[in-house]
Amino acid sequence: MNYVQLEKLGEGTYATVYKGRSRATNEIVALKEIHLDAEEGTPSTAIREISLMKELKHVNIVRLYDVIHTETKLVLIFEYCERDLKKYMDAHGDRGALDPMTVRSFMYQLLRGTAFCHENRVLHRDLKPQNLLINRKGELKLGDFGLARAFGVPVNTFSNEVVTLWYRAPDVLLGSRTYSTSIDVWSCGCIFAEMISGVPLFRGRDNQDQLLHIMRIIGTPDERVIRRIMSESGESQQQPPKQFPRYPKIPFQQVLPKAHPQAIDLLERLLQFDPAKRITPRRRCSTHTSPQARRQYPFLPLALSRLLSLPTPHGHHAAQQQQQQQQQQQQAAQQQAQQHAAQQAQAHAAYLAQAQGMPQYQAPPIPQAQGAPQAMVMPQHQYMTYPQQYAGQR
Ligand code: ADP
Ligand code: MG
Repeated sequence: MNYVQLEKLGEGTYATVYKGRSRATNEIVALKEIHLDAEEGTPSTAIREISLMKELKHVNIVRLYDVIHTETKLVLIFEYCERDLKKYMDAHGDRGALDPMTVRSFMYQLLRGTAFCHENRVLHRDLKPQNLLINRKGELKLGDFGLARAFGVPVNTFSNEVVTLWYRAPDVLLGSRTYSTSIDVWSCGCIFAEMISGVPLFRGRDNQDQLLHIMRIIGTPDERVIRRIMSESGESQQQPPKQFPRYPKIPFQQVLPKAHPQAIDLLERLLQFDPAKRITPRRRCSTHTSPQARRQYPFLPLALSRLLSLPTPHGHHAAQQQQQQQQQQQQAAQQQAQQHAAQQAQAHAAYLAQAQGMPQYQAPPIPQAQGAPQAMVMPQHQYMTYPQQYAGQR
C-alpha cells in the first residue's frame, strides 16, 4: 500500500480508522479499514457506489481520495481531520457546551454540507457528533456516510462508539420508510441543541423510549399526524396504531435557557415532529431571498438567515481565525505536496468572509455552488443512501 499506517484514530462498529501518511507525497490522511465478509467479498456495484462518493466534493464534506480493495478488506483513504465533534465538545466545551460563536460557525457548516449532499441527491442518515469531523482550521466536515455499515462485517461489537438512536427522526422511529432530506434536518436540530447545552437532547434507550423522550419535550403530536406517518411505513397495516401519552410541548427556551432567541427559532423549525413541517432545504419560502439567489442556491436561505442573525463574531475572534488561516496557507504553500490543503483553506476563507461579514438581521449571503453537481446526480425524488436498508438497525 502507498500509505504508512500510523496510530489509531477511532473505532466504529464496522471499521477501524488510522492516521496514515502517503509514501509519495507525505500527506497525512485517514485510513478507514473495513473488513469484508471473506465468503461474499465486495460486489462490484458497491465499489462503483463508493467511487461515486469521490465526486462529492465540498469543503464541508470529508473528501474521499481513494479506495483500495483487497480480498479481505476495503481501505478508504480520506482527508485527515483532527477530531470528531464529540471529542471536540469534550475537549473545548464548557462541560460539553460550545460558545455561541463556535456553535454558529459549526451549525452553518453542518447545514451547508447537508444542503450540498441533498442537492446532489445523497442522504446522510446518520448525522451525529461522532460522524462530524473538525480539522485544525475549524472546518466541520460530514463524514461516515455509512459505507462501512453497508458493505462491511462488524469488527467490533463492543465499540466505544455506541450505536445510537438519539439523532434519529421520529418518523423513522415510527417506521416510516419514505426517507427524505427531512431526516437529516432532524439530526441537525439534535446536534444544534447538543452544541448549545453540551448534552444530547433526546437520550432514549430503544425506539419506543426514544419517541417518548422526544414527545416529552416537543409534545405529543396530533394522533392524525402519527397515523399519517405510520401509514407511510410498510408495517402499518399489520400493527394497530400505537398509543402515546399526551405530553404538552415544553418551550425550547426553557430547555435551553442559554440559547439566543434566534437559535431557539431555528431549532423550532428543525425539530418539527411532522417531517412535512420540518424546514426543508428545498423550501423556497424565504422572503429574504431574491429570485436570482434562489435560482443559484435554491435552499437553506431561511435556515441560514436565522443562523446569521445570531450574535455577531467578536472582532478579535475573526482576526485570530484569519491570522491562523494565513499561517496555515503559508505552510501549505511551502509544501508543494500539500497543494490540496491550500485549496481548501481558500474555500474556508471565502465562506468565513461571507458568514462573518454579515451585519445582523440582513439577508444571508448566498454561498456559491461548489462546482456543478457531479456524478451523484440521481433521478428526481431518488436519493443515494447507504446502507439501502436503514430500518435494519446496525
Ligand atoms: P464507523 O463507520 O465505524 O462509525 P467512522 O467513519 O465514523 O466509522 O470513524 C470512526 C471514528 O474515527 C470517528 O468517529 C472519528 O473519531 C475517527 N475518524 C473517522 N474519519 C476520520 C478522519 N477522516 N480524520 C480523523 N479521524 C477520523
Ligand atoms: Mg461513525
